[in-house]
Amino acid sequence: MAHVVIIGGGFAGVWSAAGAALARGEADLRITLIAPDEHLVLRPRLYEPEPELAKVELRRILEPIGVEHLRAWVSTIDTGRRVVVAGGEEIGYDRLVLAAGSKLVRPSGLPGAERLFDIDTLDGARRLTGLLRDREDYSAVVVGAGFTGLEIATALAARGRVLLVDRSEVVGGELGPGPRKEIEAALDELGIECRLGTTVTEVGDGYAVLSDGTKAGADAVVWSVGMRASELTRQISGELDHLGRVPVDRRLRALPEVFVAGDAAMAAFDDEHTVMQACQHATPLGKVAGYNAAADLLGVPLRDFTPGPYVTCLDLGGAGGIFTRGWDRRVMASGADGAAIKKRINQQIHPPVDDAAKILAAADRVYLELPFFPRDEEPAA
Ligand SMILES: Cc1cc2nc3c(=O)[nH]c(=O)nc-3n(C[C@H](O)[C@H](O)[C@H](O)COP(=O)(O)OP(=O)(O)OC[C@H]3O[C@@H](n4cnc5c(N)ncnc54)[C@H](O)[C@@H]3O)c2cc1C
Repeated sequence: MAHVVIIGGGFAGVWSAAGAALARGEADLRITLIAPDEHLVLRPRLYEPEPELAKVELRRILEPIGVEHLRAWVSTIDTGRRVVVAGGEEIGYDRLVLAAGSKLVRPSGLPGAERLFDIDTLDGARRLTGLLRDREDYSAVVVGAGFTGLEIATALAARGRVLLVDRSEVVGGELGPGPRKEIEAALDELGIECRLGTTVTEVGDGYAVLSDGTKAGADAVVWSVGMRASELTRQISGELDHLGRVPVDRRLRALPEVFVAGDAAMAAFDDEHTVMQACQHATPLGKVAGYNAAADLLGVPLRDFTPGPYVTCLDLGGAGGIFTRGWDRRVMASGADGAAIKKRINQQIHPPVDDAAKILAAADRVYLELPFFPRDEEPAA
């Protein structure tokens, strides 16, 4: 029987599995997802005070749709022989979807780097909340005032003192000027001190040294900068982008028998942009890549990846949230309205469980429905 193999159990891998099962219908086709953990980790929710809630059992998604789960790490992809090596065992495939995601890049050569905390993985987030749980008045240094750094800094500010450090001269540099005023106001409101044009040069027991010479007290130093796609991408292409991603065509194909999805894929969003390493793109990329991998074997027409509108939604803790639209990130909602939208999005990213019809219907609806908000109708300022 023909075999679709998917590497990765994140958003892209899970939705690839559902996409492949959707294309399979009643046909004979074996689908296997390989990932080491028993859970899909909802990484966008790892800044929350209870990261333990940010996970869904893979079994509850894969079993109802007839997808096997092999709990293993893939070390090798041999595209010539069409096999992957997982847990020391060779597994043959007819079509492969690489959805092995991304990882935070930890700084090399930083003294005390082993003391850094992060919220990149469930284990990382558990370690941080484990340290600070039940403590009032702790101090934390957050390195990086980008999307993740802002969310964890504003979350930590609920019960502690937070110093936010960034090499850039502005906060939220990667988000552009669109939401900057609202971000700065939120940091102000929460009493978060910003040290811009600065970085951390040493992490010690209870302190961090900054590049301006300051020694700041810190119960935890949280690193949030630098994401890179899985190393497995190197085994698919010699032409990776600066994030280590594999270039794919509009059907998300990288090689005749290999599709790539999620944070590992460099897919075009439009003529100017490639997709972001974000679950809002990993989810539809997965749905299309998995569908196409199966459709290709079954002689069914393939689907093009045609992204929905680009939005961002940032949780700013006690200062609410910000919801933006477009690549210029126009602020459509802020404060309590922005926070309400973020809450809805954080629920919407949970895949349906235990119900094949619901899972397959969701795989067929490639894009999340955007939350309604009145200012959506207003022309851009
Ligand atoms: C703190 C944080 C906040 C975020 N907030 C947002 C947000 O608000 N909005 C948004 O859109 N995005 C957000 N993101 C980004 C989003 O989480 C990622 O884009 C998304 O998780 C990517 O999904 P993925 O499936 O491609 O990869 P991943 O989530 O990285 O999953 C990869 C999977 O592959 C498995 N894997 C890796 N290597 C191997 C291997 N060798 N063998 C087998 N399995 C392997 C892993 O175990 C995992 O199951 C956030 C990320 C973080 C860390």
